[in-house]
Amino acid sequence: MCIACRRRGPQSALLRLTVQRGDPPQAVVDVRRRLPGRGAWIHPTVECWQAARKKNAFARAFRVARIEPPEIPRWIHHSTEERVHQMETNQ
Ligand SMILES: [Zn+2]
Repeated sequence: MCIACRRRGPQSALLRLTVQRGDPPQAVVDVRRRLPGRGAWIHPTVECWQAARKKNAFARAFRVARIEPPEIPRWIHHSTEERVHQMETNQ
């Protein structure tokens, strides 16, 4: 389920986020979906990203008071195919 719009969908359509400890902790995009720990899922769209920031959904998803939201990936505007390519080449 997307933490922003709370719509359910296949996980393949969602981006996995995990949290990195720190002060404040930081939400990071788990491109390969392999990082341990609590995960949160979000649509890779600007709309959901902004909604999540506005609603403080990142902090809520990770059950922390404060969290540094993840950077919006540059490839977010791209097509799915391009996105996968760029994620894999880590751009
Ligand atoms: Zn969403």
